[in-house]
Amino acid sequence: MLSNTTGNKLNMYVPNYVVFDLETTGVSPSSDEVVEISAIKVVNGVVSSEFSTLVNPGRHIPYFASEVNGITDDLVKDAPCFEEALHDFLTFTGDMVLVGHNIHTFDMKFICRDALKYFGKTIGNDYADTLYLARAVYPMLSCHKLTYLADYLGLSTEGAHRALNDCRMTQVLFEKIGEEMKKGASGNVRICAKCGSPMVRRNGVRGPFWGCMSYPACRNTMDI
Ligand SMILES: [Zn+2]
Repeated sequence: MLSNTTGNKLNMYVPNYVVFDLETTGVSPSSDEVVEISAIKVVNGVVSSEFSTLVNPGRHIPYFASEVNGITDDLVKDAPCFEEALHDFLTFTGDMVLVGHNIHTFDMKFICRDALKYFGKTIGNDYADTLYLARAVYPMLSCHKLTYLADYLGLSTEGAHRALNDCRMTQVLFEKIGEEMKKGASGNVRICAKCGSPMVRRNGVRGPFWGCMSYPACRNTMDI
């Protein structure tokens, strides 16, 4: 939902959320544009509905971007502009928590920037980033890219880098993260007793320790 302030990054599982993903003309949240936006709404851990639309970015889509996602100028020529697509996306999401892979440094920047540009306000929904959560919950993996995690979890990666397919992978990943967090220390994850975030291994002057992932908002630590 539109707001005067950006929402908070939540380092935990919630059962009601909207997973979303963008495809763009490139990697810069300051100069690139959205060419596809997709979302999946989940209520009590169960998928309830999907939203997906191509977007006409009003500019040429560079070849290197089309190479990644298969989205070309021709494919988006009759698609709505992002003002319309973002309005529909915000109607779909309401005030639910947003979830996505690498959204903290990428996708949130695009939608907050364009909400401000088109509607004069930013996006106030709280959000959870599965990239950060996956690093905490699967610290033994050497890579936390979405397709790598999907392979690890035995999910199909067919159609990766189209927004709705990436949403489907991220949605299952977020549920798996929720299961790991529920298992807590009997599995791989230690959960902060003060705020419910995962604890991550850190190195201090007196050796390694568990530190809360929500540092500096939460400064809880545990001995290893
Ligand atoms: Zn904490």
